[in-house]
Amino acid sequence: MKFSGTNVLVTGGSRGIGAEICKTLADFGLKVWINYRSKPELADALKDEIEKNGGKAAVVKFDASNEDEFIEAINLIVQTDGELGYLVNNAGITNDKLALRMKTEDFMSVIDANLKSAFIGSREALKVMSKKRFGSVVNIASIVGEMGNAGQTNYAASKGGMIAMSKSFAKEGASRNIRFNCITPGFIQTEMTEVLSQDVKDAYVTNIPLKRLGDPKEVANSVAFLLSDYASYITGDVLKVNGGLYM
Ligand code: NAP
Repeated sequence: MKFSGTNVLVTGGSRGIGAEICKTLADFGLKVWINYRSKPELADALKDEIEKNGGKAAVVKFDASNEDEFIEAINLIVQTDGELGYLVNNAGITNDKLALRMKTEDFMSVIDANLKSAFIGSREALKVMSKKRFGSVVNIASIVGEMGNAGQTNYAASKGGMIAMSKSFAKEGASRNIRFNCITPGFIQTEMTEVLSQDVKDAYVTNIPLKRLGDPKEVANSVAFLLSDYASYITGDVLKVNGGLYM
């Protein structure tokens, strides 16, 4: 894989899919800024692991749904490295409830964590990347944003919104050579899906043509492709990484 930029910021990078994205992009030679919100020990351990393997990494704490904190972090990166080549908006939460029982606060908490954060990051990345006329952003949406899911009206809205938002950013960024794409993972083995009962997991696997949950590495490889020069003519697209569950 070939990368013309030198560094990347991964939100929610200290664990789960985000951590795998950080490791994969470091293996491809990018300096990785690992964002965490609540567990510095995980972010520091990941930085050490990347450096032990010969990669470059830095840790940056902020709440991705907090505008001031996100802007401050991007400023720090640009001051330190002279550019922000790539951004992966990966931070996300769930707060599942049937819609009839979902309070407006439950709905908005997920919109803020998943969609507002990606908007702030994409807008700020567009600003700094515009100066170099180069950049690529990948937003981690979800299969649920494409097909909906009972108990996840908030999450589905946040991820469906992310897909539509990325296409709009792609149209605004194209004249400056800045690409925006989405990945829509299906059911990937992380703490987010750990909470599902074995029965629920088995039911999903029955319907997945590849007959298994996905591995975070399989998402990370797709992120690397979309960020890289190999995807230089791809923007505003949605890459499904779901074992065929939704085609
Ligand atoms: P996870 O294991 O629960 O990790 C979520 C990450 O997001 C954590 O690092 C968490 O940081 C971070 N985060 C949440 N809110 C944040 C905020 N406001 N600011 C900064 N960081 C924040 O989840 P995952 O499975 O790796 O999911 C990663 C992304 O993939 C999410 O956007 C998720 O919606 C999406 N996705 C996952 C699946 C799946 O099957 N796992 C499927 C489709 C899409 P802290 O630890 O500091 O809280």
